[in-house]
Amino acid sequence: MSKNKSSESVKVVVRCRPLNRKEESNGPAGSIVQMDLRLGQVILRNPRAPVSEPQKTFTFDAVYDANSKQGDLYDESVRPLIDSVLAGFNGTIFAYGQTGTGKTYTMQGAWMDPQKRGVIPNAFDHIFTHISRSQSDKQYLVRASYLEIYLEEVLDLLDPNHGNARPLELRESPESGVYVRDLTSCVCKSIKEIEEVMNVGNQARAVAATDMNEHSSRSHALFLITVECSQPGPDGRKHIRVGRLNLVDLAGSERQAKTGVQGERLKEAAKINLSLSALGNVISALADGRSGHVPYRDSKLTRLLQDSLGGNAKTVMVATLGPAPQHYDETLTTLRYANRAKNIQNQPRVNEDPKDALLREFQMEIARLRAQLHHRKWRTKQKKEQVDGEGWERDGDEETEGEEEDEEDEEEGVEKEAEEYVKQEQRLEREKQDIREDQFMLADEKQRLLGEKERMMGVLRKEQEATEQLTAKYKAMESKLLVGGKNIIDHTNEQQKMLEGKRHEIAEQTRSEREIQQQMLVRDEETVELRETFTSLQQEVEAKTKKLKKLYAKLQCIKAEIQDVNDEHVRSRQELEQTQNELTRELKFKYLIIENFIPPEEKNKIMNRLTFDPEEDQWKFQPLVPAESKSSQMKKRPASAVGYKRPISQYARVAIAMGAHSRYRVGVCVCVCVCVCSVVLCPHDETDWISAVVYNKDGVN
Ligand code: ADP
Ligand code: MG
Repeated sequence: MSKNKSSESVKVVVRCRPLNRKEESNGPAGSIVQMDLRLGQVILRNPRAPVSEPQKTFTFDAVYDANSKQGDLYDESVRPLIDSVLAGFNGTIFAYGQTGTGKTYTMQGAWMDPQKRGVIPNAFDHIFTHISRSQSDKQYLVRASYLEIYLEEVLDLLDPNHGNARPLELRESPESGVYVRDLTSCVCKSIKEIEEVMNVGNQARAVAATDMNEHSSRSHALFLITVECSQPGPDGRKHIRVGRLNLVDLAGSERQAKTGVQGERLKEAAKINLSLSALGNVISALADGRSGHVPYRDSKLTRLLQDSLGGNAKTVMVATLGPAPQHYDETLTTLRYANRAKNIQNQPRVNEDPKDALLREFQMEIARLRAQLHHRKWRTKQKKEQVDGEGWERDGDEETEGEEEDEEDEEEGVEKEAEEYVKQEQRLEREKQDIREDQFMLADEKQRLLGEKERMMGVLRKEQEATEQLTAKYKAMESKLLVGGKNIIDHTNEQQKMLEGKRHEIAEQTRSEREIQQQMLVRDEETVELRETFTSLQQEVEAKTKKLKKLYAKLQCIKAEIQDVNDEHVRSRQELEQTQNELTRELKFKYLIIENFIPPEEKNKIMNRLTFDPEEDQWKFQPLVPAESKSSQMKKRPASAVGYKRPISQYARVAIAMGAHSRYRVGVCVCVCVCVCSVVLCPHDETDWISAVVYNKDGVN
């Protein structure tokens, strides 16, 4: 893919977890992964190769060894991405690696321990702290969704009916790219609320995991956060920027052959591997840059990550490794994968004023409710004037009609309104009391006036209720929007803020230092040749021999790499063959059932009705009658035999001719229905067919 001005590559960082207790007890072989934090390099040792074989070196944007802290990874590699999301870019962070290498630890971590909180909880803090510290002319709307892809089906983890819910469909729009239709989305006003959303989803995942062993490491989990921000532009109008953040914890990338599964589990593993190999194919196609076609449509995962890989997004990939020698193959595969991903070019841009921004809808609804409230207030005043007559005096601080109320004064206005209702109610009550106590008034007149006051009080109460409802709706709506520096109280003091600022600076410096080191390394190799001047022939021979040795080592490395790639190719081919055999066996089984138990005409009918929906990657039944012409093409009731009211069978005709009871005619209809059913169930057994008729005839009788 050609680089252009606004394109940037996918950032790839690698993290290696410490040896666990089991691996430590396995032997003294120790770790096969070494890291050069300064240069951002991973050096991998093949435990099966002779010592003379050169080690494999890979360079990344950053590397984190077993001693690395969650905060280091966040500050250096994730924080800039979240800042971009807050500025209106799309952002994606995905953790990729073998099961047990620390994907979930990196993404979620231990929530209770501040030192061990992962990317997701740190991102929550970051987003809401940013909002609380931003200027008060900014309005924010934060929404969260949580889904998982299990066996190539997209499931909503926030759906209360998660266990029995139907899989969701993927759709595409020019505005927001690929999205999930009908996915639950929760508006969150604080860190606590968004954590609650995460917990609900994690619980749904955990329940599924107990139903199906190892479910969680077999499914891909995506937590989506949308941050909409509105701010007045230089033109005076409010402009909205929408940042979408995808936090992805992928299923384990280990090979199914190694886990030794068969049957259903093999198919499950094949589907998981399918989406991961589809991801690999997408990465390869994009990294290669030459192939025009990128197979995003091969899996749900790649479709959902379409924007994140080669599209409108900033992306960080965290590749996780285990240091144990027995997982050398998986570790090497992960590193190759990650190395390829570095070459993907994305074209991120700020999403400015998209048509589907929910914040705009909220603002419009709030404005409408506010206008309604103003109108009510104005009407109440009018009524008061009517009741009080011309002598009613205005309070000095009351607003003139139609005057725009400031947002700040809205609350005060609502309180005044409530006070006004109470005052009017008290006054009506007083007037009623006066009428009751008036001894000169006639009883009839008293009754009439009391009734009148009662009616006025009823109207007043109704109005009060309606205003209260409207106010509650308005407040609920408004509370969903976060106003910069207002809704959330920032408890951090200035010193802490400064400390944070310094930490970011250091992280930024480390990053740029590493970049410079890497560039220097590349340049050194290029320029060493130019700088060499030889004083003697002997010196020239020595220098050239040294260079030859270096090049020879490089050649050996590349040869080993070719061998590795070949081995990997053979392995994946074997796995595909195994999956293919399994699928062929299942296909034969299904054919056997169809050929022997479904009558050919039924089979043809069914096949004619089937169509393939490429959008959902599924076969679907066409409706029997096209939906739009349902009424016109509705099948007509069959014409009756001459002389009879309704279609009638031979059996019923004979029965009538024999003078049998008329109820046989009804029985015939039931028989016909049952016969159709029995034809489907027992196609080749005529005796059963007849017995079904006889049985039903008797049954009806
Ligand atoms: P995955 O999600 O890749 O299957 P997990 O995140 O569940 O793996 O990690 C497996 C185990 O390793 C967990 O017990 C986790 O606490 C531990 N672990 C992973 N990474 C680290 C790390 N960087 N430091 C300490 N422990 C880790
Ligand atoms: Mg996990």
